[in-house]
Amino acid sequence: MLDNSRLRIAMQKSGRLSDESKKLLAQCGIKINLQEQRLIAFAENMPIDILRVRDDDIPGLVIDGVVDIGIVGENVLEEEVLDRQAEGQQPQFKQLRRLDFGACRLSIAAPRDFQYQGPRCLQDLRIATTYPHLLKRYLANYNVTFKTCLLNGSVEVAPRAGLADVICDLVSSGATLEANGLKEIEIIYQSKACLIQRSGIMSAEKQALIDKLLTRIQGVIQARE
Ligand code: ATP
Ligand code: ZN
Repeated sequence: MLDNSRLRIAMQKSGRLSDESKKLLAQCGIKINLQEQRLIAFAENMPIDILRVRDDDIPGLVIDGVVDIGIVGENVLEEEVLDRQAEGQQPQFKQLRRLDFGACRLSIAAPRDFQYQGPRCLQDLRIATTYPHLLKRYLANYNVTFKTCLLNGSVEVAPRAGLADVICDLVSSGATLEANGLKEIEIIYQSKACLIQRSGIMSAEKQALIDKLLTRIQGVIQARE
């Protein structure tokens, strides 16, 4: 039986957000013994359980109320929200705060020799991406429609492999684009990691613990600035 009295926090198991997420929780004074292969870790000094999952699963776990808190990239969160809205749902959750790590941008990139003169050039092209909803929302502002090539990895090789004309992918330094003969032509979304809470009633104890954590996070982030 799941112990509902403990605060459940979901974070990325391994990837670009996991070290910083782990560090943030540690700096808040949560003593966790993360064992590499374990899905769940129990805090030793507070009633908190840490769930370590793929980042893509975190928004859904929070929206569905399976966990109380999640640390996830705004890009992944927003895409999940748009996806659920497209299915006719009204996803509920509380955005607690933006964090100071995981900065990246979602950009459209094209082969180096592509003659780019604005979003209208993308009309009817095939665009490889993991973020079809964010891309669609952005291009709709310009009345541009496109064909999707949905990929969950290796997006940057799609043009060379003949799968797509251009791509829409996450960029931080731009080195990966460069290495694949691509240039950034349009920034469509600026992202950072964020902290979200499930909607619905929380016990007074849990809410007090969340408030305490938020205050500590505020202090940690301020001290880093
Ligand atoms: P998982 O195995 O958990 O699904 P993943 O491979 O989908 O991991 P990562 O590459 O670890 O995801 O990225 C996680 C998040 O880190 C991204 O969704 C984004 O918010 C952030 N991020 C920051 N910089 C970058 C970058 N250069 N490329 C990709 N993601 C970045
Ligand atoms: Zn992922």
